[in-house]
This record gives sequence, C-alpha cells and structure tokens, in this order.
Amino acid sequence: MTDFQRICLVHYHEIGLKGKNRSTFEMRLLRNIESLLQDFPVVTIQRISGRLCVFLREGTDFALHTEVAQFIANIPGVARVSFGFKCPRDMDAMIEAGIGAMAESGQFGSFKVQARRSHTDFPVCSMDMNRIIGGALSDAYPQVKVQMVNPDLTVGIEVVEGSSYIFAHSIRGIGGLPVGSSGRVMCLMSSGIDSPVAAWRIARRGAVCFGIHFSGRPQTADTSEYLVDDIAHVLEKTGCIARIYVVPFGDYQREIAFKVPPKLRIVMYRRLMFMIAERLAKKVHAGAIVTGESLGQVASQTLENINATNSAVTLPVLRPLIGTDKLDIINDAQKLGTFEISSQDAPDCCTLFMPRSPETHAKMEDVLAAEALLPLDEWIPEIMEKIERHDYRCPGSR
Ligand code: ATP
Ligand code: MG
Repeated sequence: MTDFQRICLVHYHEIGLKGKNRSTFEMRLLRNIESLLQDFPVVTIQRISGRLCVFLREGTDFALHTEVAQFIANIPGVARVSFGFKCPRDMDAMIEAGIGAMAESGQFGSFKVQARRSHTDFPVCSMDMNRIIGGALSDAYPQVKVQMVNPDLTVGIEVVEGSSYIFAHSIRGIGGLPVGSSGRVMCLMSSGIDSPVAAWRIARRGAVCFGIHFSGRPQTADTSEYLVDDIAHVLEKTGCIARIYVVPFGDYQREIAFKVPPKLRIVMYRRLMFMIAERLAKKVHAGAIVTGESLGQVASQTLENINATNSAVTLPVLRPLIGTDKLDIINDAQKLGTFEISSQDAPDCCTLFMPRSPETHAKMEDVLAAEALLPLDEWIPEIMEKIERHDYRCPGSR
C-alpha cells in the first residue's frame, strides 16, 4: 500500500468571523497549535480552504496520530479535528487512502462516504465521488453495509486545490476562541476545584490567564503552592496560562484575624486579595479579575459578600461559574484534568484563621469600619514586594 502522509484537519467555527478578523483568528490559532505541538512529530501546519491542516512526519503510527488529534481537540478555538491522510486528487488514490483509513477504524457494521469539493476544477462532483468511492470501498468491505443515516463510520473526503484529504476519524474539539484573541485576565487561583475551571472557561473565550495565588506561608506549609503549580501545568498543555504569581499571605491573614471582628475576617481577607490582584492586573495590562465563585455555594458567596469584596476594586470581576452547580463544576474539573489535584488537602489561607461563624450578609459600613483598623497603605506595597512569579508556556501571550 502507498504510504500516504498523515494529517489532522482542524475545523473551527466560522460564525462571526469575517474579513480581517478571520485571518487574525486563523493565524492566532495556527501559531498556538504550532507552538503547543512542539513535542510531536509535526512537519508543518497550513491554512487550507477554511481549515488548518497539520502534516505529520513520515513514520508516525496510528496511535501517535490519534494522540496528536486528541491533543489538538483540547486547544481553545478548535471545533473539530478530522484525522486521516493526504493524497493526490486522483480517484484511485482516494479509494486506496479510504481503504487505509477504514483499516484503522476497528469494528463497524455500516459506513458512508461524504465528499466535499472546495475547488470546482476537480471534474467529479461530490455526489459522484460519494457514489464511485463509496462503491469501491464497499467492494473492499463486502460484509459492511452502506448506510446514509447514522452509519457507524463516515469516511470524509475533502478535495482542495492540488490535493485531497481522506479521514475516517473525527472528534469534537472544545470550541471557543484561540487564547490571545481576547486580551488578558488576572485569575484568583486557590488550589480548590472551582478556580481552575473558572480560569479555563475564560481562556476558552480567548483570554490569556495570569494567575494569582495567596499562600498561607509562612503560617502554613507551601503545599497549596505545589498544587497550584500542578494545576498550572495542566492548563499549560492547552496554552491557557502564562504565569502564576504567588503571594506569601499568612502573616497578613494573622494580623487581620487579630484586628478585625471574627465575623468579618473572610470578607477582609478577600478584599485585600482583590486589591493586590487588581494592582498586579494593571501591571500586566489585564482587563479583568476572574474568580471561581458560585452564587450561594459558601458563606462568602452571598450577594452581600460578593458586593463587599467587589467594592474593593474598580476593574470588572468576572465569575464564569456564578450560575453553575457544584456537580457540573466537578464534571468540568474532571474533564480538564484538575480534579484529582484539587481534591488534595492543602491548608490555604482561607482555611487558616477561619472564624466559627462567618458573616453571610456583610454590611458595607461595618466592613469599612473594620478595614480602617488595618494599615493597608503600608501593607500593600510590602506585599507587592514579596510576590514571586512562575512562568508557563503560553503562545497566545506573545
Ligand atoms: P475554589 O474551589 O476555587 O477554592 P471555593 O469554593 O473554595 O473556591 P472560596 O474559598 O469562597 O470558594 O473562594 C472563592 C474564590 O476566591 C476562588 O474560586 C478563587 O477564585 C478565590 N480564592 C480563594 N482562595 C484563594 C487563594 N488562596 N488564592 C487565590 N484565590 C483564592
Ligand atoms: Mg477553596
């Protein structure tokens, strides 16, 4: 059999993509994919009639080919990945490549051929291609029936300028927009379940995520910092995160715990976290703060308390999970691959110095009165000085 070159055809949603927008989007996606696939045997990536085509190196086997396709499917901006072979625009070659693609499809009882011609200069129309190639593939697989509706397998054929692409595998991508097409955000990242999912959802809409983690250090161990680093490495695989800032926050929490009424501690920790996050956001030109809050989930997530923390900053605060149930968030965390990491115990600064009964309906005047007891003008520059940073591979941030 001829050794056809293995390819992945990357489809993206075209809705709302017109003119200049469209080519910016395509180039962004292309560069992100190219950089993230660095460790895979990729020869080149090209734009081909409304798709990106990833060409794999000679000798790549089906298992690795599948792995590459699955990897691409998780990159924001990718709607679908079809994977198979490139072959000449010649009916016999297409049939041979089609047989090759079917041979890698395991067990199936029915199939159909779905051809698409992007160039009308190819003499055979798509209906005729379906019929002729379908017939030949059916001869090669006499025990399998041809079925137009809901077949077990669809052999796709795309004829473009100069060549054609044939594939029997097609997987859904995560959709969204390429990271780097919607600016930057500053994500508050605990090592919990919610915040990584929140960051990921915003990255999927094209924003480059910068994370900020408040560690209980030196009052607690640095376990949460390792977990956040593990989480960042998961997000890094799909190019979602550029950097994590780590703030040793334990001493300040302790001071807050001494100075303000127990009920208001959490609101106060959170106001200070927001203030620091906002300062960093401005430094890196991030246009919003992101949190993993979900309405009513815990004491700090009532409307009054959300308002009491929000009013500490002027940047918009995005809460992508605000209307999402915990079970759905867990489900997303499992798909994303952060759930196991987030399920590990770490003393973070919200578990340290937790009051017995936190305020659920903080009043602004009480909050401001308590805050006046804290030397924030002194603390904030001091905290900013102590911040550490870790960088991750994020092609979209360049
Ligand atoms: P998560 O699962 O993300 O930890 P949670 O359900 O524990 O959230 P809270 O503790 O009220 O809820 O935190 C709400 C949000 O505040 C988090 O999603 C995160 O965005 C931010 N946050 C909480 N703790 C920290 C921290 N130590 N460092 C940075 N951000 C934090
Ligand atoms: Mg938490």
